[in-house]
Amino acid sequence: MCLVEPHVFFPPAGAIVPDRQLATGCTTVLRTAPPDRKLDGKYDFIVRTDSPRVKKAREDILEFLLVHHPLDCPVCDQAGECDLQDYSHRHGRDKSRYLEVKNVPPKKDLGPDVLLYTTRCIVCTRCIRFAEEVSGTGELGLVHRGSHDEIDIPRSHEGVPLQVLDNKLAGNVVDICPVGALTSKDFLFKSRPWFLEKANSVCSGCSVGCNITVEYKADGVYRIKPRFHEDINQHWMCDDGRLGYHYVNSDDRLQLPMKRVDDELTPTHWADALAVITEKLSEIETEDIVVIGSAQGTNEDNYVLQQFAHGVLKTTQLGLFGQLPGEEHKFPQFTIEADKNPNMAGARTILGSANGNVVLEGDALWEKVSGAKVVYLVSGGPERPLEDAEKAALESVDFLIVQDVLPSEVTQLADVVLPGTTFAEKDGTFTNSTGWVQRIRKAVDPPGEARADWEITQQLAKQLGGEMNYHFAGEIALAIAENVPGYGDTTHQKIGDAGIKLT
Ligand code: SF4
Ligand code: SF4
Repeated sequence: MCLVEPHVFFPPAGAIVPDRQLATGCTTVLRTAPPDRKLDGKYDFIVRTDSPRVKKAREDILEFLLVHHPLDCPVCDQAGECDLQDYSHRHGRDKSRYLEVKNVPPKKDLGPDVLLYTTRCIVCTRCIRFAEEVSGTGELGLVHRGSHDEIDIPRSHEGVPLQVLDNKLAGNVVDICPVGALTSKDFLFKSRPWFLEKANSVCSGCSVGCNITVEYKADGVYRIKPRFHEDINQHWMCDDGRLGYHYVNSDDRLQLPMKRVDDELTPTHWADALAVITEKLSEIETEDIVVIGSAQGTNEDNYVLQQFAHGVLKTTQLGLFGQLPGEEHKFPQFTIEADKNPNMAGARTILGSANGNVVLEGDALWEKVSGAKVVYLVSGGPERPLEDAEKAALESVDFLIVQDVLPSEVTQLADVVLPGTTFAEKDGTFTNSTGWVQRIRKAVDPPGEARADWEITQQLAKQLGGEMNYHFAGEIALAIAENVPGYGDTTHQKIGDAGIKLT
């Protein structure tokens, strides 16, 4: 489809280069002509992209691509974002001249999230190249010959698939398939793409910080797609990140504050929950309070928490909580990191910024938590099991305040539970493991009466006499830029969509 008509004015010595030979634009190499051989004394090389010959050739190629294509756009998931559909509108005929019987190869289940509608495949082989070059797993290949060739995975002599496409980068083949052949089971028939709103954001699945687009409607998140960032994720993302958004839409989400009444967590309203907490906090000595920020939270969430701890509670006992480490996965052109938090680096720096950079983690944190009078723990993110030492420490706390998004082992131990927000429901920034500070953007409203985490902390601070008065996350980012060493350029405006790398 990229045929062009190049005019070469200075064929290399001895080469036979017919004038006006059509060539593929993507592989044609530009050359510089010697001064005495330039056309009109100034042009090195001319490429015609719209001559009658080129247009006719493109129409012919498109006609070949459509020979066996079912043209089932009305029921195809790709309609609305299909290169073949767009090309047909631009370059195609209004009628097919093909009267013979079309090939109808079977639909193939390629793995946990990928389904191949073989009839729609135009055999561009992008998916094969992806599995060879980017994931390095090489599951896919071509079988049969000529107009019968099909994408497939290796099969035994009995026709049983020997493999499935289940590497952790498999979902990317759905994105790069130019037609509706490779489809995501997770998104299949859920929505027409033109009905979805899009928010540029950052994956919260690990500390790589892949750039993503959150695609959503008013009733929730529908899918996550990777967004190009040359230095972080190029065009890709992993399936853990891609499919890890379901907890955002969960019916189990915490929607109301809760307080413990007769040993049961009972829903209450915000004013009551905050009154219970402020009453408790105002009667406790500062050295008996531990405040724990979240590596799932934004820099803005953690900055307000740090100000609350230092400025209002006057405690220096700050800790950091997050998802448990997982496995690292390395591919030829991509790495999934073991730290399953999007903002470990940012939370650590920002929580420690007014504290001589002392932020308790691991054993030191749980030792401090053991027997503490009051602990205010901000969590967030998918449910995370507690290890024995963590559970024992939290059980021993006299009064435990937990801010989270889902019921969990942590909320079960709480005296007051405050419903916070996920990455898809708030604005802010994450700092990835290599120092890129990037923006996340609010896509959907939080469920019920859940609120952005920094808003909850600020409300608590105000009730205890604190003077914080931020109105939106960008305002907190300005304060971070002013007060946190190294973060001088990280206002939301400067970060934009490209991100800023800390130096
Ligand atoms: S990327 Fe899509 S169209 Fe191209 S070969 Fe693979 S399945 Fe076929
Ligand atoms: S590598 Fe990490 S940041 Fe990237 S998509 Fe996967 S989980 Fe998300």
